[in-house]
Amino acid sequence: MNFSITILGSGAASPTGTRNCSAQALNFHGSKLLIDCAEGTQNRIRRHRLKLQSFETILISHLHGDHFFGLPGLLSTMHLCGRTEPVCIVAPQGARECIETLFQLTGNHISFAIDWREMAFAEGEQTVLEHRRYTVVAFPLDHTVPAYGFRIADTMNSIERPFTYAYCCDTAYTEALLPHIAGADLLCTECTFANELADLALQRKHLTAGQAGLLAAKASVGQLLLTHISARYREPDILLQQASAEFENCIMATDGMRLEVRSKRRVEAVQGIEG
Ligand SMILES: [Zn+2]
Ligand SMILES: [Zn+2]
Repeated sequence: MNFSITILGSGAASPTGTRNCSAQALNFHGSKLLIDCAEGTQNRIRRHRLKLQSFETILISHLHGDHFFGLPGLLSTMHLCGRTEPVCIVAPQGARECIETLFQLTGNHISFAIDWREMAFAEGEQTVLEHRRYTVVAFPLDHTVPAYGFRIADTMNSIERPFTYAYCCDTAYTEALLPHIAGADLLCTECTFANELADLALQRKHLTAGQAGLLAAKASVGQLLLTHISARYREPDILLQQASAEFENCIMATDGMRLEVRSKRRVEAVQGIEG
């Protein structure tokens, strides 16, 4: 099994000194995907010595700035560095118009092809990408703007059950997610607030730590990766404790953390907090 994640940003809303906003680099059997692209993501890609041009696919969960504002800069740098290979972008409707309008109004252009896969709202799942090494399925989240979770499964091993990674960020608690994430080997959810701020989480359509753990437990996933941490938690131990009270196999994401599948379809952190 060849699967790894590098956390490029694990913070919510606005960046802090220790957490950039949402972005993750995935490696599925050598194919590279980016999930979400907050401002500053391209700097984090370079900082962690990942190859900027290696990303074939970019998945954008929703168009809030802390998940999307890094995309024009990343595409511009890819162009400036001479990219010729196409890139596939899976994003909510409006992303293409936003990027194309920005480039048009600012006199920038991109020399490589973009294969846009814009997602229209649908109640159920939609298969948005069938790559030779993985399949991406999108499903609706419950957030303040149209937002989508992703379930990514490898297609390389026909003998074993495919390794499955599910990503849900940003969303309020809803058990409508369960069929889409059930049995995932690794589930990543947002974990914006502690349980004490459940009312605020509901109002802003985010998860508390306990709700994140509950989703993982009810979906019978293998492990839970917690991300999208509010800047109010400088020491997020309380979030890890509250999620772990509902589901024991929790990992708290930190910027620069690299997770690899080591054995028994479980990921382990092989690189921790960035120095
Ligand atoms: Zn967010
Ligand atoms: Zn959001």
